[in-house]
Amino acid sequence: MNDVTYKMRRSVIEILYTAKSKGIILPRINVRIGESTHNYPNVLGVGGNHNIWITKKAIDRSSNYLLHVVLHELCHAIFNLPHNESCPLMASVLDKPCTNSQAWKIFEGYYYEDVRTVREIHYHASKCAMAS
Ligand SMILES: [Zn+2]
Repeated sequence: MNDVTYKMRRSVIEILYTAKSKGIILPRINVRIGESTHNYPNVLGVGGNHNIWITKKAIDRSSNYLLHVVLHELCHAIFNLPHNESCPLMASVLDKPCTNSQAWKIFEGYYYEDVRTVREIHYHASKCAMAS
């Protein structure tokens, strides 16, 4: 892993630590950093089955933008949530990122709902092609 990739990965992992500091217990998540492919130039990230893949594009934009993309992909990866066009965080298209507090508030809402609901979750990789 080169220095640049390490720093980018670090900024994503910081968000996982922030979740932990808020009392959110997350399973082990595999974090990968990559470039959008030429076939899907607008993809910001992919999440599913305890994996998140965050593009350089999402990381470079702004911290609000990165937080939005990471929490969005975590919702796919951990809660197995589908897209929801009426949710500012889970909409399939990212126009304007959620503010920091809004993004966490929504994420925590899903988390506590998930914790309350004792159910078998069948994880499957939900392909997210969240476009900018
Ligand atoms: Zn998505």
